[in-house]
Amino acid sequence: MRPSALDPLFAPSTTLSGVGPKLAKALDKLLGDETHAARVIDLLFHLPTGAIDRRPSESIIEAPIGEIATFSARVTEHRPAPPTKAKAPYRILVEDETGDVTLVFFHADVRHLLQTLPIGAYRIISGKLELWDGMRQMVHPDRILDPKLAATMPSVEPVYGLTEGVGGRIMARIAAGAAERCPELPEWQDGAFLARNDFASFRGAIDALHHPADIKAATGETVARRRIAYDELLASQIALALVRRQQKKAAGRATGGDGALRRAIETALPFTLTDGQRKAIADIHDDMEKPERMLRLLQGDVGSGKTVVALMAMAAAAEANRQSVLMAPTEILARQHAERLAPLADKAGLKLALLTGREKGAGRRQVLEGLANGEIDIAVGTHALFQEGVAFHDLALAVVDEQHRFGVHQRLLLGAKGEAVDILVMTATPIPRTLSLTWFGDMDISVLAEKPAGRKPIATKAISSERLDEVVGAVGRAINAGAQVYWVCPLVQESDTLDVAAAQQRFEALQEEFGDKVGLLHGQMPGRDKDAAMAAFVAGQTRLLVSTTVIEVGVDVPNASVMVIEHAERFGLAQLHQLRGRIGRGSAASTCLLLYKGPLGPVAEARLTIMRETEDGFRIAEEDLRLRGEGEVLGTKQSGSPDWRIARPEIDGDLLAAARDDARLQIERDPHLETERGQAVRTLLYLFERDVAIRLLRAG
Ligand code: ADP
Ligand code: MG
Repeated sequence: MRPSALDPLFAPSTTLSGVGPKLAKALDKLLGDETHAARVIDLLFHLPTGAIDRRPSESIIEAPIGEIATFSARVTEHRPAPPTKAKAPYRILVEDETGDVTLVFFHADVRHLLQTLPIGAYRIISGKLELWDGMRQMVHPDRILDPKLAATMPSVEPVYGLTEGVGGRIMARIAAGAAERCPELPEWQDGAFLARNDFASFRGAIDALHHPADIKAATGETVARRRIAYDELLASQIALALVRRQQKKAAGRATGGDGALRRAIETALPFTLTDGQRKAIADIHDDMEKPERMLRLLQGDVGSGKTVVALMAMAAAAEANRQSVLMAPTEILARQHAERLAPLADKAGLKLALLTGREKGAGRRQVLEGLANGEIDIAVGTHALFQEGVAFHDLALAVVDEQHRFGVHQRLLLGAKGEAVDILVMTATPIPRTLSLTWFGDMDISVLAEKPAGRKPIATKAISSERLDEVVGAVGRAINAGAQVYWVCPLVQESDTLDVAAAQQRFEALQEEFGDKVGLLHGQMPGRDKDAAMAAFVAGQTRLLVSTTVIEVGVDVPNASVMVIEHAERFGLAQLHQLRGRIGRGSAASTCLLLYKGPLGPVAEARLTIMRETEDGFRIAEEDLRLRGEGEVLGTKQSGSPDWRIARPEIDGDLLAAARDDARLQIERDPHLETERGQAVRTLLYLFERDVAIRLLRAG
């Protein structure tokens, strides 16, 4: 059982002061997942990604241009927009003895401005200072403070990853609140190691991370971050050690069939398999036939045809009268897989069922029954497949789609579902070798190097968003010619309210143009509506699908041959590549239009150039690595990976090595974690949610 000291951390975010239901919902989107809402601990581990320096300048003339500047000044003049130019901004002049600054407000709330910046008043003002026609100006200051309240503004302000509905200041406040909830915990690290590295306690390190003393402390490689990273690595290494011990006990089972179902499926396919697919299918089958457990990674660029390989593997399991699951990262993808695979499975006489968090009531019970009594051969679903209450008659194989971050933790959960389950992980993200060793050190790899024949290259163009009208015109012509179009809008962030094209708005605008040929799909829609929108597009009822990045992963509509990506400059390379991979799947020539809003920074410019030059996923991944640094490639900087919230194994290599040794020693000396330090290690395992490892410990 989880030590009760950790209970406050695993409480929902609503237990934090100032977090009501609405805010909690927004936090869930950022930090929660299918199985749980955002909790205090998710906020605790939601570390700043940087910091803003708000130390005040002595005077206006000394305030830095082009950066965040903070200064105090007197309000001298209000300049409303002239009545003839309703869209012009509202301007307010402030000055000190050394110079003046024009504050600029678009869509101004004049009454509010008169209140916060009355003429004659002194104010502390902080925001991005720019030169405009030789004059200093600041568009929408971040902070406007009465000098009496100066102390309420920290001079170094941590910056957090945000989401719709949670602004920077709110996030900083709740993250700090979460850090405060952290109790002093028993020490699990080796004393000498702690001293040598100058590590504070877990609580001390968390506190330091959320209250950076200077800019470097928020962004740099600090002792505090290393401490937490080490903790995380130690937790996973100890969990791994426990798993290995368990795995040695439970060897795999040989699953071999006569090939009849596979032949039936192959005959039913509307295409012939590529050599790469054949080879991968054979590799997988060889693995499954062996009495050891399979742990194989199937790597193939977007569109290379991984799904059918998965189906053949699952058919092989069924030939041995055993079950398999196919797990997808999103609800939409799970449904698509189920719809695609069902007719093929049917032809081979296999029973396939869908299980996600949304299957409820009688339908759900029926599926659970079918899984438990072995009637269902193949279950397709999301994380819900792992949940408690889902039991299998005889699970042989788990295929995990598009989740290269499927880590040790999830493997553990799976292990608990069947003895010696064979695992196939499929990913389109090429994984650099250094990383694959730390993440998948124990995995074998199959690669689909070629794409199915007959694919035409995608023409990719970068176009300034000022030419939106032309783009809409071209899209209209494409639709009239029978094409289907994806129109992708980026996430709406509270911080740039002024110029982001929200999917909703774009949808309405395009609907005016194209009527009911336009569909809308975004993450916040109720599940049923999402299904309906997707189904209408698949069926060709809607010809243009406006969506957020929810279509990024795996969605397959071969007739879609045009993609417009708005604000392409805001996306990373890997994401652009994934998105673009949704087209170019059919026999028609495809076009991808990257709409950008200039001026482009050098990195954004480089990204768009690479996208125009190549469709080669490996090259794109390499360039991505070069432009971003390794840490971000696998999304390890976001909380997206349940395996690594903080640690970056590729960067913290020395820590990883130390944690590995530490873990081995710990398990050797104290195999059941019963000593005082062993008990502390248990707390650590719960803290990083390696609970299943502890369960294994009990079982063994
Ligand atoms: P991914 O590897 O990105 O998951 P999919 O499995 O979704 O790719 O396959 C992409 C498309 O290619 C699908 O429409 C699928 O039916 C088709 N496909 C798969 N294999 C072949 C093949 N050997 N020949 C022609 N089309 C294929
Ligand atoms: Mg796929």
